[in-house]
Amino acid sequence: MTEHLLTAARALDAADPLRHHLDAFVKAPGVSAYLDGNSLGRPLAVVPDLLDRFVREDWGTRLIRSWDEQWMALPERVGDRIAEVTLGAAAGQTIVADSTSVLLYKLMRAAVAARPGRSEIVIEAGNFPTDRFIAAGVAAETGATLVWVEPDSVRGVQPEDLDALLNERTALVVLSHVDYRSGALADMAAITARVHDAGALMLWDLCHSAGSVPMRLDACGVDLAVGCTYKYLNGGPGSPAFAYVRADLQGGIRQPIQGWFGAADIFAMGPEYAPTPGIRQLLSGTPAVTSMIAMQAMLDLIAEAGIDAVRAKSVSLTDFAVQVFDEQLAPLGVRLLSPRDSAARGGHVTIGHPDFRAITQRLWGEGVIPDFRFPNGIRLGLSPLSTSHEETLHGMLAVRDALG
Ligand SMILES: *Cc1c(COP(=O)(O)O)cnc(C)c1O
Repeated sequence: MTEHLLTAARALDAADPLRHHLDAFVKAPGVSAYLDGNSLGRPLAVVPDLLDRFVREDWGTRLIRSWDEQWMALPERVGDRIAEVTLGAAAGQTIVADSTSVLLYKLMRAAVAARPGRSEIVIEAGNFPTDRFIAAGVAAETGATLVWVEPDSVRGVQPEDLDALLNERTALVVLSHVDYRSGALADMAAITARVHDAGALMLWDLCHSAGSVPMRLDACGVDLAVGCTYKYLNGGPGSPAFAYVRADLQGGIRQPIQGWFGAADIFAMGPEYAPTPGIRQLLSGTPAVTSMIAMQAMLDLIAEAGIDAVRAKSVSLTDFAVQVFDEQLAPLGVRLLSPRDSAARGGHVTIGHPDFRAITQRLWGEGVIPDFRFPNGIRLGLSPLSTSHEETLHGMLAVRDALG
């Protein structure tokens, strides 16, 4: 009774113009469905060779000379590449550094300081914990107050949800572009415009959109953004994050962790800190060079495929997942916790059932790997370049069988 779904999945895979890229990733023996690429992207098969060459040549042979020859420029070079390939942003506004959490701290602190006389930070109550925790810490340090947006948990934040909350006290609004639970895709242009109408700064968290959903940061007039590189950018566990600061804001903000890598003359060893102009001021200490290798290869692959084609594949995968949900899971009492309309959805689909915590444990043991999200959601993270429709179907039927 699922034969027609298998036929449909195979037809979609056969028609997928990006299908040849499925072979570009490391095969995981014993894993029949990896539906967690939105938490930790799979490694590209070229990564072992890239790391080997890095150790033998750039590090082992060129030794400390590599800092001058290439590594100093890496945070901006890779940042510009992320901007070009995924963010719709011109060069000179994006830098790779730290973790998402630390960059959130730097940008939130800088933003509150850049809006003197304003004392409120608007943030979504259902936002990812680190975003809320960092905001609470910044509020405590600066005397600011947190103002919570509480949108519908499936639809996510709508522009009009902010109307009653924005006023002359608002310094900063912090929202996720794609919600980490529901996958709801926020209207970046409309929300940013409303925030600007109130005279506040807008900080977007792009963790679940970078590498999956095309963006137009410059065209939307976004002020600040952060994102993660180990999800859809396949940088590997703990690969550093990225920050975007719009060019004309860079002279007007000061990040709080003033270290030597962000100083105007890094080797002056002078008595006092003076920030370098431009996006490098976001740096504090020595960049994580080794951890930027895998993401560069993935950025090349996304550039080759084209981010619009990546999004088209993503929409095809999530639409198919919703179809399989309707036919196979809804009758068993599973609920759809993501928007049904692909235009309102990012790259993952979340489904809910009280038994999902226990079921996820069991499925992991069997080589079917979705993602569990408290309290009872399974996230189907369908990383577009590394996931097929047939793999998606196989994983979802395993969920169905586990419920039966
Ligand atoms: C994954 C994720 C993070 C991760 O933060 P780290 O500092 O890299 O651990 C932060 N925010 C959101 C919305 C995320 O999805």
